[in-house]
Amino acid sequence: MSRRIFIAGNWKMNLTLSSSLELAGGLKEQLNGTNDVEIAVCPPSIYVQQVAALLKDTNIGVGAQNVYHKDKGAFTGEISVGMLIDAGVKYVILGHSERRHILHEKNEDVNLKILAALSSSLIPIVCVGELLEEREAEATYKVVGEQIEGSFANVSAEDMKKCVIAYEPVWAIGTGKVATPDQAEEVHVFIRNLIEKKYGKDIADSVRIQYGGSVNDENAKEILAKPNVDGALVGGASLKVTQFVKIVKSA
Ligand code: PEP
Repeated sequence: MSRRIFIAGNWKMNLTLSSSLELAGGLKEQLNGTNDVEIAVCPPSIYVQQVAALLKDTNIGVGAQNVYHKDKGAFTGEISVGMLIDAGVKYVILGHSERRHILHEKNEDVNLKILAALSSSLIPIVCVGELLEEREAEATYKVVGEQIEGSFANVSAEDMKKCVIAYEPVWAIGTGKVATPDQAEEVHVFIRNLIEKKYGKDIADSVRIQYGGSVNDENAKEILAKPNVDGALVGGASLKVTQFVKIVKSA
């Protein structure tokens, strides 16, 4: 089963409107027409509409970094799935470790957001990953297993096919300490086996699992060469046109 490589850039809470448009413009110039790789950028929500307008009719999709699970109402500060779609958004990053650990999002919150995204046409990119102390305590599989189980509760087989998973060991995010290709592959295989147990082999074989954590233009090729690594979620290195373009090209 061949899975299309998917490289997504998570801009986090960085850039200004003008530097967002400059970055998106640079990517458009250099990546438009690179059709063998799926590409997305995820700007801060306040910029998604303008970035999506700039990237309209290109092969670079736009994602958001979060969403709220309710349609509308008294939820001050939140943004709905419908609002994101209106703004031209196609993907949404859910359960990023910064949201889990700084903003205390639980698997149940991530689950509600996944179900809300899937009830419309937003494609969830669902992040899972263990802390350093959890890896050192040999609890990686337990933690990642619980994140997958809890986050994907009540997701139907049909909907599971649309989801993307990002394995992002927390100790590798923004630290420069990238997981070795073997460490990444091991956890990706574990995740795929969990999906197979729940949804069967065809679905497990079709779900893309990205790796995230200090991916850059120098280490991307080796990690992406692993059979169960189907792309990358890139933080820091997605803020520079040259770096992000090199990562996409190395895929
Ligand atoms: C991320 O934010 O998802 C990430 C992987 O960040 P970085 O590439 O900077 O480690």
